Amino acid sequence: MNHLQIAIDGPGGAGKSTIAKALAAKLGIIYVDTGALYRAVGLYVRGKNVEPHDAAAVTALLPEISLELRYENGVQQVYLNGEATGDRIRTPEMSMYASAVSAIPAVRAFLLDTQRNIAKTNGVVMDGRDIGTVILPQANVKIFLTASDECRAKRRWLELRAKGIETTLEEVLADMRLRDHNDSTRVVAPAIAAPDAVTVDSSELSIEECVARIEAIIAEKTGSR
Ligand code: C5P
Repeated sequence: MNHLQIAIDGPGGAGKSTIAKALAAKLGIIYVDTGALYRAVGLYVRGKNVEPHDAAAVTALLPEISLELRYENGVQQVYLNGEATGDRIRTPEMSMYASAVSAIPAVRAFLLDTQRNIAKTNGVVMDGRDIGTVILPQANVKIFLTASDECRAKRRWLELRAKGIETTLEEVLADMRLRDHNDSTRVVAPAIAAPDAVTVDSSELSIEECVARIEAIIAEKTGSR
């Protein structure tokens, strides 16, 4: 049986996770946050005091890592060697670790099957950077979700503040631009739109408007409704 595959790629703070979660709930399929896998690798690397840009050292740690995605009350939880990672992977430091390790080809290869396998057995709305280009090139619908830098930084800053993480808007904007640059210029699986992706700019859209826009694209592409 072929399951529905919706790929949502784009830079941080564009609203991918919020929109993907809402879409998955409406479509009755699961939401897969692939960034959490890179963050979990980053967490392990940090715990071993390994420099995240050191490709050889990070690659050497991979055989020690076992990752599992579980759904608890409909919420994705990443288990790292049997332990829930929770909010430990959500800090600005882990964003930078994730971005650094994600540029290492062996890390991307290591996470490939986990991502593909979940889409083999479930209908998915999967968010990330290379879902439409590498992970699910056959996805039924591919969306590249963007927003202006300022808008994305403001959203991320509010999100961090709500979690009690103290930073300034300027700091978040600078971190975000650095991460965007790393993600979109890396040699392997750069964060770019697939040729057949539909680009949606969320800067001026509310969450509901953005979800509705993408639902319309899904309906058009899949011939449903
Ligand atoms: O989406 P999120 O901010 O959690 O992703 C963290 C980092 O993981 C990104 O900056 C990116 O470097 C990396 N990533 C990736 N490919 C994905 C998802 C995330 O390279 N599919």
